Amino acid sequence: MPNLLDYDAAGLEALLAGWGEKPFRARQLLRWVHQLGESDFAAMTDLAKSLRARLATDADVTLPRVRADSRSADGTRKWLLDVGAGNAVESVLIPEPDRRTLCISSQAGCALECAFCATGRQGFNRNLSTAEIIGQLWWANHCLAREQTIETHADRRMVTNVVMMGMGEPLANFDNVVAALRLMIDERAYGLSRRRVTVSTAGLVSGIDRLRDACPVALAVSLHAPNDALRDRLVPINRKWPIDALLAACLRYLDRAPRDFITFEYVLLEDVNDRPEHARELVARLRGVPCKVNLIPFNPFAGSGFERSPREAVARFRDILMRASLLTTVRRTRGDEIDAACGQLAGQVQDRTRRKARREAEATP
Ligand code: SAH
Repeated sequence: MPNLLDYDAAGLEALLAGWGEKPFRARQLLRWVHQLGESDFAAMTDLAKSLRARLATDADVTLPRVRADSRSADGTRKWLLDVGAGNAVESVLIPEPDRRTLCISSQAGCALECAFCATGRQGFNRNLSTAEIIGQLWWANHCLAREQTIETHADRRMVTNVVMMGMGEPLANFDNVVAALRLMIDERAYGLSRRRVTVSTAGLVSGIDRLRDACPVALAVSLHAPNDALRDRLVPINRKWPIDALLAACLRYLDRAPRDFITFEYVLLEDVNDRPEHARELVARLRGVPCKVNLIPFNPFAGSGFERSPREAVARFRDILMRASLLTTVRRTRGDEIDAACGQLAGQVQDRTRRKARREAEATP
């Protein structure tokens, strides 16, 4: 049975056309489902009775179930969403004075095995469906709206920004992620500006090129190293698409991007990639690429094998970039006491890659 949350506007129009319905019905449905959060077809009063009856028998609106809702003292909030068969994913709301950013997951687990990421350690189960991806935004808006006063209830655009920086590699789940992105920016659904929706990738070059054609939104790239030798070790997908190929794809992306820069994320690992010579090498490497650099102090998790760079090392690294006129920010750690910070999202993953077992076997002599 089709779950209406799986369809973007074009998909919904096609589904309805198959039932002999006009395209404007898709517009009405998007508004009911996404803006008004309605899942009961009987309540959709501007739809023809016959269509309501058809929807009731031949479609549904199924959301992932909220299994836990935790709050941290700094206002960060984390939802654990059940996606079935023992898998659960996390989304994180980061409130700031001028915006509310939701960090969304795209896969149950991740297959990329970046050395310093807790999600990678969990192994990989499957791609999330479009419904499971957009369902995270649906829930966050719904929870926030429910907690608001009646006066502001009409404005359901509670989340102002979305970052695809939760569990998983968004460009490895391309079609479902793109359908969800289209809903995010669709006036009839969530109406977010393309500039306020960011896809973060570990560097899937083919995916970056496809995204540029399918649905250009703001792009963040997890760089984490200034040379291939080091990046091969930290971000193994680099062995397939090394830094030169990645930066070339970034330049191609900028032709269509809604922002005129790429954000490079760089997690600072003590004595691994945080020395002044790494900073200088990074400056040289990024010359000619319009960008901002976002330094992320490493968020530790049990058995990671890495340490967070000390404050002084972070400041020194930042200063070298800034003196070379690279726009640089240091990401403030939010929500770490509820394990909601970058790289700490693990949810619950039934690993199908047997990565955990392999690691444990390697660890026992
Ligand atoms: N797969 C995508 C989306 C994940 S985004 C990507 O790699 O970009 C999450 C961001 O947090 C990425 O930049 C990731 O490299 C970074 N990250 C992962 N583990 C981290 C950790 N332990 N501490 C800080 N940042 C981490």
